[in-house]
Amino acid sequence: MLKQVYLANPRGFCAGVKYAISFVDKVQETTHEKVYVRKEIVHNRRVVEDMQKRGIIFIEELSEAPEGSTVVFSAHGVSPAVVQEAKERNLKIGDATCPLVTRVHRKARNMKDSHQFIYIGHEGHDEAIGTMGEAPMFLVESEKDVEALKGKIDSSRPLTYLMQTTLSVSDTKKIVDKISEVFPFVEHPAKDDICYATTERQEAVAQMIQEVDAMLVIGANNSSNSLRLLQLAQKTKPKSFRISASEDIDIKAMIEDQEIETLGITAGASSPQVLVDEICKKLNDYYPNLNISLFPGSREDSMNFKLPKNLIQINA
Ligand code: SF4
Repeated sequence: MLKQVYLANPRGFCAGVKYAISFVDKVQETTHEKVYVRKEIVHNRRVVEDMQKRGIIFIEELSEAPEGSTVVFSAHGVSPAVVQEAKERNLKIGDATCPLVTRVHRKARNMKDSHQFIYIGHEGHDEAIGTMGEAPMFLVESEKDVEALKGKIDSSRPLTYLMQTTLSVSDTKKIVDKISEVFPFVEHPAKDDICYATTERQEAVAQMIQEVDAMLVIGANNSSNSLRLLQLAQKTKPKSFRISASEDIDIKAMIEDQEIETLGITAGASSPQVLVDEICKKLNDYYPNLNISLFPGSREDSMNFKLPKNLIQINA
């Protein structure tokens, strides 16, 4: 029977997600026009549904927004081609891209005339698509992909690498080691691109994993950082599982089938605290003597990004 739940800290919303959500809220506050958001503002169904209830319209492509309307780009960033399309359609643009993703775009822009790039990321993820639109890049997801680049990289030109911000810290290190081995002339950036939130949430799981029978990761199946948390937890505790929201699965059956007595809970950077609260409440209803506490020694996420003064750029 489940006896103890430990909550990981930090977990859930990161500074970039809070920034993107408050960006959209602020834009809506300051305009009487409809506000469109291109793609999910962050990868979480609850966040998107809450915004839809407040009148925000989500679109997949700019062509779905009327000419001249207000469109906000999501936290994951967009490629220059999308910005160009927005200009051509006279859209008023709000860019809610996380500043840590923007930093990777900036690096790509600054070095694109001099360097070749390897991009370590996940094919098809919104952030990867946006960053890879800045310059020609070779996408790698594994050490095998790095091997496959032999013969494609020009050894007479400088080479460096960029990363998606939400990768597994340990797996990415192996890929970087492989890049160094295959392309010894590669220039290593002073700092890698995996963001503080990804790193800290993975560290929090690593710290508690020996003390639990399994981790429950709350996060969407298209949330890269949530999937990395699950992957990390399952390496040590294979019973670990992920759900998007409290209604997704029969959590009691899951816990009892797996004979879990001590459960760790974490949440991806785009998962709101309300989902953690709902799941804890459900567990408490099933197990009235359950002890729920923060994992000892855990710390808060104290990072914060300020919104820009001018949220909207007209014909940017
Ligand atoms: S996970 Fe990192 S890069 Fe992504 S929004 Fe949060 S702080 Fe920004």
